[in-house]
Amino acid sequence: MSEEYIIQSHGLTKMYGQTAALKNADIRVRKGSIYGLVGNNGAGKTTFLKILTGWIRPTAGSFTMLGESTEAGYRKARTRIGSIIEAPGFYPKLTAKQNLEYYRLQRGIPGKDTVDNVLEMVGLSQAAGKKFCKLSLGMKQRLGLGLALMGEPELLILDEPINGLDPAGIVEVRNLLLKLNKEKGVTILISSHILTELENIATDYGFLNTGELAEEIGVEKLREKCRTFLEIQVTDAAAYAALLESEMLCSNYCVLPDNRIHIMEKVDNVSDYSALAVSHGIGLLGLEMKEINLENYYMNLIGSRKEEA
Ligand code: ATP
Repeated sequence: MSEEYIIQSHGLTKMYGQTAALKNADIRVRKGSIYGLVGNNGAGKTTFLKILTGWIRPTAGSFTMLGESTEAGYRKARTRIGSIIEAPGFYPKLTAKQNLEYYRLQRGIPGKDTVDNVLEMVGLSQAAGKKFCKLSLGMKQRLGLGLALMGEPELLILDEPINGLDPAGIVEVRNLLLKLNKEKGVTILISSHILTELENIATDYGFLNTGELAEEIGVEKLREKCRTFLEIQVTDAAAYAALLESEMLCSNYCVLPDNRIHIMEKVDNVSDYSALAVSHGIGLLGLEMKEINLENYYMNLIGSRKEEA
């Protein structure tokens, strides 16, 4: 059975003068997933999300979103989408509830209980009567999320929603997103440059690097692919890399700064790798089996693509 994608882009490109903010991106977001869009500052995350939400138009390429692939269709689809791209413009002197009520009426969302329900969902019932300017940063973020949730969207598009939150706030937002995904079946497309924020919630990842999609991978595959790796630091990484290829027939490695090399293949005997250096007169500075996490997986991915370039 083929997967059902809620978003599917083909060759999506956005140019700003000579700069490609997004380059030929084929991104597919499965219905029901929590898709983590990962990338350094300037990688193109916001650009992609802005195209989806209609803030900007692509220079080339196309996309389908909620089954729609025309401008008129996108407009229709966007009524089924909740998004936070930049901090929503709330009124400081209005209360949390009044702010949401204002936007409910402006957007023509029916239901007098809508705002109370949303406030409850984001854990702000107690703060409903507080003026926006008196809310903590975490509360403000959650109010933004509440705004995105009005109208019961099928798809949430969130650009760095966890930015600036304290650890407790991060956990709260994370739990809320998981709940929305599990209990209401909301698909969530969420961007972040702080990878640990996504680590416990994303079911799929898209790794962007200077506008290009370096890899798209499901969490199961990701776990399978990279449980552990060997980090070796030597006095001459280039010479050691050549030996890895010729003597160990190893091609799945990447060279990082400080003469460090990550060997991503299954390592049966760690001492073989130290012996390889020593027997060829290369100084061994460090050798350690490491658990892969999202951070070093991304760094390896970006590192190896730089090597290829
Ligand atoms: P961040 O995590 O910093 O928000 P990002 O991955 O969201 O980064 P984008 O905001 O999509 O990155 O930017 C991608 C590239 O496009 C960057 O090089 C940025 O400088 C450039 N860019 C974005 N918007 C504009 C604009 N309006 N005019 C010119 N260049 C732009």
